[in-house]
Amino acid sequence: MPYEELVKVMRVMSAIRLLIESGQRNVPFFVVKAGEIEVIHPSDVGDTLLATVHAHRFTGDISMILGRPALMRLRVSEPGEVVQLTRDEMHALIQTDAELSDVLMTALIYRRIELIAQGIGDALLIGSAHSAATLRIRTFLTRNGHPFKYVDLDRDPDVRNLLDRFGVDPSDIPVLICRGEALLKNPSNQTIADRLGFNERIDDVHLRDVVIVGAGPAGLAAAVYAASEGLDALVIEASSPGGQAGSSSRIENYLGFPTGISGQELTERAYAQAQKFGAAVMIAKGASELSCQQKQHSVRLEDGARVPARTVIIATGARYRKPALANLAQFDCAGVYYSATFMEEAQLGDADEVIVVGGGNSAGQAALFLARTGRRIHVLVRSNGLSASMSRYLVRRIEETPTIQVRTRTEIVKLEGDGHLERVLCRDGTGAVTSHDVRHVFLMTGAEACTGWLTGRLALDTNGFIKTGPDLTAEDLAEAQWPLARSPYLLETSRPGVFAVGDVRCGNIKRVASAVGEGSIAISFVHRALAESLEPPCGNGSSYASRRQRSNHQTGD
Ligand SMILES: Cc1cc2nc3c(=O)[nH]c(=O)nc-3n(C[C@H](O)[C@H](O)[C@H](O)COP(=O)(O)OP(=O)(O)OC[C@H]3O[C@@H](n4cnc5c(N)ncnc54)[C@H](O)[C@@H]3O)c2cc1C
Repeated sequence: MPYEELVKVMRVMSAIRLLIESGQRNVPFFVVKAGEIEVIHPSDVGDTLLATVHAHRFTGDISMILGRPALMRLRVSEPGEVVQLTRDEMHALIQTDAELSDVLMTALIYRRIELIAQGIGDALLIGSAHSAATLRIRTFLTRNGHPFKYVDLDRDPDVRNLLDRFGVDPSDIPVLICRGEALLKNPSNQTIADRLGFNERIDDVHLRDVVIVGAGPAGLAAAVYAASEGLDALVIEASSPGGQAGSSSRIENYLGFPTGISGQELTERAYAQAQKFGAAVMIAKGASELSCQQKQHSVRLEDGARVPARTVIIATGARYRKPALANLAQFDCAGVYYSATFMEEAQLGDADEVIVVGGGNSAGQAALFLARTGRRIHVLVRSNGLSASMSRYLVRRIEETPTIQVRTRTEIVKLEGDGHLERVLCRDGTGAVTSHDVRHVFLMTGAEACTGWLTGRLALDTNGFIKTGPDLTAEDLAEAQWPLARSPYLLETSRPGVFAVGDVRCGNIKRVASAVGEGSIAISFVHRALAESLEPPCGNGSSYASRRQRSNHQTGD
């Protein structure tokens, strides 16, 4: 937005003392020209002054870019003058002005990081380290970058006061209190997303250029490239952005991060980047069905809604295959975990022995992460060693860590415990079964594709991964009644205009870099597929061709 236009939106802030209330939708952005604005954190125990925004400074945190309700209250403490922009004007500004984008995005992201670190937000979680649901909610809020305060039933001295104040019985926990008023007992992720406004302002009924299913590295990369190239893109994510990478304690082999970066940080940045360019990201909404027509597809959500799309990118990745142990589910988050981050680590208490199952990089990272505090870690692998399945740098570090012991040709055959895991029975290469009093097991065994919702819709390989491009046989195409004269593009599935990228794709190399690469490449095929199709008008009234032209003009492509 040119400076002259900015000046037009200047507003005197004298009479109005309250600029923004916490929880308010459509939060404007203010640059203070003269005067002062106070940033206040309202809570049930009183208001806390967090900061004062003086002249030449600006308000806001990343909620503004994400389109979420305001976390804080803004109050005029000294009358003056502000430049006021709506969220859309602010969006346009950061998309067109690289210098301002740099300053604003950096500040907004760091302000959010600070709030998260200090647990200052609009949600209070009362839970227990012994409750699987508590761990789920903490993980969900953390992976969505939402600041919240956590109070543990068994560890925090003032918990009794809180329970009394909100009339909560200890048997109700976990309880999430949003903005000091809504009390949610063991809420689902979807309820939390709805209550905290994660999916505010997302229109899921108009026809999009591209709908991307899954917000792991592949889906987020596709979203960044699609939106930055002028496509109308919507991402549908069943849980939280970040996918498997988001659960990695440290990724050290992704290009450009020589000292490594936590998966959470990497994917949080990608999430903000996608939204900065204008992609919409729906959280805690799983896709349950894909319907394909010649010119238009649709993705049905678990809540029954149907999202129409001119093209679809499937980036639903993979998840750990659960071993066939009879009572496994009983110990979910009560001794058995599927990722090793600070949150799972907090569940371990003073346990000094832990088992990690798996021989891949994720198991190696988990073992090293958990060994930092001096615990004894037993890594169980069915094969004869780690070298075939794990990166060399991880194998070497494991070898050099005396508290990590690798047990080859060994597997778990039974889990025992009452309410919480107490004992693990293992069988070694000789067939001997031994019992170990270990209360915490991290399972990081082979991955299975998240394609259950696509059975019968797309050609899959024998392991359930999606076949694309040259992997599709003549029989696959005949069975799918492939209607076009051309062959499927490199990342195109057995349905024209439907693409698959990342771990969910048959033949993909299971790495962050390949997921990101495929997500970005897919967009060039999306452009081709859109150009091939006729041009029905888009929900926002502008055609694909005209938006593409504008985007090329902006980026100089
Ligand atoms: C602990 C761990 C450590 C790792 N460390 C490294 C490393 O150091 N270096 C490296 O290169 N790779 C690493 N990897 C591998 C890397 O994380 C994956 O290859 C990468 O995340 C794959 O990205 P993706 O987007 O294809 O899939 P995923 O990351 O699996 O993301 C898929 C997303 O789709 C969502 N989804 C699934 N089904 C649906 C549905 N029906 N509807 C809507 N959404 C759905 C999921 O919730 C998920 O968010 C690691 C993996 C793990 C688990």
